[in-house]
Amino acid sequence: MSRRYFILIFCVLLGVVSQAKTKAPFRTLILTGQNNHNWQASSPILKQILDQTGLFQSDIVVSPKEKEDMSSFLPDFTKYQLVILDYNGDSWPEATNAAFLKFVKNGGGVVVYHAADNAFAGWKEFNQIIGLGGWGDRTEKNGPYVYYKDGKRFVDNSPGKGGTHGKRTAYKVTDRVTDHPITKGLPPEWMHAEDELYGLLRGPAENMTILSTAWSDPSTGGTGREEPVLMTIQYGKGRIFHTVLGHCGNGDKEFPAMECAGFIVTYQRGAEWAASGKVTQAVPKGFPDAKTVVRWSGYKEK
Ligand code: ZN
Repeated sequence: MSRRYFILIFCVLLGVVSQAKTKAPFRTLILTGQNNHNWQASSPILKQILDQTGLFQSDIVVSPKEKEDMSSFLPDFTKYQLVILDYNGDSWPEATNAAFLKFVKNGGGVVVYHAADNAFAGWKEFNQIIGLGGWGDRTEKNGPYVYYKDGKRFVDNSPGKGGTHGKRTAYKVTDRVTDHPITKGLPPEWMHAEDELYGLLRGPAENMTILSTAWSDPSTGGTGREEPVLMTIQYGKGRIFHTVLGHCGNGDKEFPAMECAGFIVTYQRGAEWAASGKVTQAVPKGFPDAKTVVRWSGYKEK
């Protein structure tokens, strides 16, 4: 190699490295503190999974406890590009609701994680942000059931309660949109480790894309529908990634749904997309296929 050629390559590499270094991580707020799940375990795991990519720098913000005075709970969303919701509990103060809506409308990214879509059934704008939700006495007043039927999105206006799940089991996820930045390069079908599969979710479902569904098997107490499991929603300028995956149980010693490589990778990709509109992360070789569950102990590929 000529010396001049060598110097040229060196300079190009230096440019690439310095550019990568100057790209600041996405400032991320993980909002938790009340949940019918084990948020004390899930929130640090959600933080680790994001921060280990080098793309995010996450802070965990903990609300007051259930029934405690909420008036001083005023997270400063303006410092962040991304909010992860691991919260299912008491109403926030009006000022916090308003600040959160402003954050999303102005282009802030949001990840709705598992039972966060059980929260705030009576808050119209929150339901627009999550697209679909369950429990909290949700009914037809909240919007239709939305799921897949005969390979297509199906809107079902029949009355009834919102939210159910059968027994925990491993199940296959089917990607319905394969050219979205989040799902591009993933296998079209992949196994998810033992988890709840939410069903009968209902909501306004405006500006919502169902990326992936899973068959809710009646033999395990499911709905007999292809239920949405990964969704994106646009609200104002804000991008929302909604994953119903990742149950983290109280009293559980292991969290297979969060150790699932499919959960980890789709959460990392969904978070990057919500923060930036792009996904720069490669799909790991160890991503599960349609037959075999892949669990990463320590929430990281070995
Ligand atoms: Zn759960």
